[in-house]
Amino acid sequence: MSVYKNIAEFLEFINISNEKFTLFEWKPASSMRRFDLDLNIVKENPISDIFFHKDKGNMKIVYIRKHNLIYTVGANLKVQYQLLEALLEYVDLKFNEVYDVEVILSYGNFSPGLFNGFKQNTEDIIKNFADLNLIKRILVECRVCNAVLPLFVKKSVIEKADSYPVPIVFSHRGHSILCFIDQNFVHRGVELVNITG
Ligand SMILES: [Zn+2]
Repeated sequence: MSVYKNIAEFLEFINISNEKFTLFEWKPASSMRRFDLDLNIVKENPISDIFFHKDKGNMKIVYIRKHNLIYTVGANLKVQYQLLEALLEYVDLKFNEVYDVEVILSYGNFSPGLFNGFKQNTEDIIKNFADLNLIKRILVECRVCNAVLPLFVKKSVIEKADSYPVPIVFSHRGHSILCFIDQNFVHRGVELVNITG
């Protein structure tokens, strides 16, 4: 549970950009790292409304393009992708609640510090992440590891599904299992799957 409860300790950055520039970026207080290169690669992907995952050395990157903004998060490899997706979904929700982004950007005289106030919102989201009720923790058995593992699933994935059970591929330790989750967040079977890519 520790990653989920203390997600702040595992995050490298959260970035909100449009095509041209960064609107907002959060980093841990001590971090001097820059992520321009990663963000440039992210911006090259024109596809909207789908989460993309990328492993980069000792960091996981998750990003999504939504209503002309690009949301990106970088985190330690220990953090399951679904947790990072849930985090970005909530950041997007809050950002658009706090700011009328489209109107603000349409003024054309954007100043870099305009969204600095969102730092506090972000700190609050990260601190209270486990209490936001965005995630379900489901225990699944992996026959390869011969162990019961915690699988973190976004509630939105299950709640917005067209049919049940919902299949989720859980990649871990170099192999993957396919888990079927029903509408009550109970897993209905686990299969070992072959992978390529
Ligand atoms: Zn396993």
